[in-house]
Amino acid sequence: MREGDILGHEFMGEVVEVGVDVRNLHPGDRVVVPFPIACGRCLFCRRDLWSLCDNSNPHAWMAEKLYGFSAAGLYGYSYLMGGYAGGQAEYARVPFADVGPLKLGEGLRDEQVLFLSDIFPTGYMAAENCHIQPGDTVAVWGCGPVGQFAIKSAYMLGAEHVIAIDSIPERLQMAKEHGQAEVLNYQDVDVFEALKELTGGRGPDACIDAVGMEAHGTAIDAIYDRVKQAVWLETDRLHVLRQAIQACRKGGTVSIPGVYGGFLDKVPFGAAFHKGLTFKTGQTHVHKYLRPLLVSIERGIIDPSFIITHRMRLEDAPRGYELFNKREDRCIKVVLKRERQ
Ligand SMILES: [Zn+2]
Repeated sequence: MREGDILGHEFMGEVVEVGVDVRNLHPGDRVVVPFPIACGRCLFCRRDLWSLCDNSNPHAWMAEKLYGFSAAGLYGYSYLMGGYAGGQAEYARVPFADVGPLKLGEGLRDEQVLFLSDIFPTGYMAAENCHIQPGDTVAVWGCGPVGQFAIKSAYMLGAEHVIAIDSIPERLQMAKEHGQAEVLNYQDVDVFEALKELTGGRGPDACIDAVGMEAHGTAIDAIYDRVKQAVWLETDRLHVLRQAIQACRKGGTVSIPGVYGGFLDKVPFGAAFHKGLTFKTGQTHVHKYLRPLLVSIERGIIDPSFIITHRMRLEDAPRGYELFNKREDRCIKVVLKRERQ
């Protein structure tokens, strides 16, 4: 990133102006904007793989060097993903505006629909990727905002039992009280043994890594990752992913909404192979989930605003980042609002 970049890939607002080819939106419309930018016409968009759009990353060559092929451009998400300005601003430019934004009617508050732009669909897709069968147990690593929605979504999709893993007390409390999850603090228990015990010795049917490359851990491999990262020998820390692979029951699914950037070291792929695990991963195909999840909010099945712990003015964003990053003041999710002129 560079100085002056505009962050924020989870936003909504009022349409103030439209391009000549945009026919379905008009000034004054209230919209929520999905964080992947998608053309709506390419092979990937037509197959509902919106975050893999072929036409929205103007810096595709950078991603191609690293990944072979480029995924979609994303708002406020580094130059690798297009270098688009994000939504934490007075105004945002929305490319392919006739494809992405969801127009909202009256009746629902901004706070109830805002998270359709990212974390609700992200948690939902993570759970959907688990192919949950009736009676299933799903374990979720990381009780940040995405983890909280993964927990709720797992129950919405028919899980019988959700086990949530974290170390931050307020996150575990939210997972327990709002999410009805059984919670494990990885600083207090051996996660692998605890999961085995809670699943009759078999392991969870599906494991969700809602942590990604910034995993913290106390085991020896977590320390190894930190050391290698410190001397630039690897890019991602993957303690959670290793634990999920190890803990997952035979024939189960490891679903990974947590973001990984580069190369992973010491992946227990033998365990994955011999247990016949399925991996599902990727940035969220938000466009696919906007309408169905809006319906779940309208019907009162879920009210995503439960996640909000802090509300601030746009001008106070730096303080919001600080609170979130240092986990101060029991901060789980900050919402920034621009005061209307
Ligand atoms: Zn496309």
